Amino acid sequence: MSLKPIYDITAFTALDYPDHLATIFWFAKCNMRCQYCYNKDIVLGDGEITQEQALEFLDSRAGLLEAVVLSGGEATLYDDLLEFCIKIKEKNFKIKLDTNGLNPLLVQLLVENNLVDYIALDYKAPKEKFLTITKNKHFDDFAKTLNFLIAKDFPFEVRTTVHNDLLRVEEINRIIDDLYKRGYRGEYYLQSFLFTDTILSKLKEEKITFEREKLSDKLRVVWRE
Ligand code: SF4
Repeated sequence: MSLKPIYDITAFTALDYPDHLATIFWFAKCNMRCQYCYNKDIVLGDGEITQEQALEFLDSRAGLLEAVVLSGGEATLYDDLLEFCIKIKEKNFKIKLDTNGLNPLLVQLLVENNLVDYIALDYKAPKEKFLTITKNKHFDDFAKTLNFLIAKDFPFEVRTTVHNDLLRVEEINRIIDDLYKRGYRGEYYLQSFLFTDTILSKLKEEKITFEREKLSDKLRVVWRE
């Protein structure tokens, strides 16, 4: 792991880990370049905080917080995330991982060693549109992570960010079909694109209206606005 893998810490959140009071560690760097990403500074910037500083921060929150969210950027870029999670667990915090799924091996190690309690997995786009949206061609790695979590019956959620001009309802329905075929039966979270001045690309606000009424009902869809 780089000496300073963490870009920033959000001291407190009641929203990011279902039913838990948590802190968020934002890992610098990412192996995707999603057009709608609004964390440009985190994706392109350098880390500022060491593992040790993050662990000291947790010591100061013992008894006040229950959990840590590992977000970013992409936390699974860091090979020694496993050791970091061991140290967090020794302090009796639960761990939620936000991931784009491109490191199935590390996710597998974390799950099989009980080093993560909950995962939010981004399903960025159907395979044929994955490269366009993420600038990364490794859909199959993402799919391995997805298949593994389904087979393990691990507590996790799948979510997609929707920019109406990039992903139409037909494409979201293809994702729903694919999830269903693979055996996923959890809730499927959709979050609307948020236009900010920290967007990674030159993407503008949507021109097309998303036709929610045409969404497939194979899975329960939950919107996070
Ligand atoms: S939205 Fe995409 S580019 Fe931004 S942090 Fe997540 S995976 Fe990386």
